[in-house]
Amino acid sequence: MSPIITQPGMPAHVHPDAAARQRCDRLARATAEQAEAALGYLSMIDPLMFEIAMDAADLITGTAPRDEATGDEAVPVCRRCGGQVGIFLDHGLDWQHFHGDGTTAGAQEIYDPGHLPEVTWRLPGENPQQS
Ligand SMILES: [Zn+2]
Repeated sequence: MSPIITQPGMPAHVHPDAAARQRCDRLARATAEQAEAALGYLSMIDPLMFEIAMDAADLITGTAPRDEATGDEAVPVCRRCGGQVGIFLDHGLDWQHFHGDGTTAGAQEIYDPGHLPEVTWRLPGENPQQS
């Protein structure tokens, strides 16, 4: 007769939330040099994921990409309709379509075009329908 005793052991698969937490913890411990090296490596092995990660970082930090030649700062627009989009803190943290100059406080009018903003960044004079 064999005893029915379970043996403690590691789970076969790490829970997805635990794996995400481990990656966050590892990133938090990384130096700027390690993060730069990791992104450099990612740009070589998976250029698309690198671009997605950098675009996400721009959105999260509110950093607009720049034209290296002219220094012009890109502006956020909706990929779907080409309209201007922005985050208005008095309306929450979601992107909103708006009319206005985008710089003067209170001079913007938020509107609903019937779809959620699909945020992308465009340099001044660049057609939003390109790319
Ligand atoms: Zn739109």
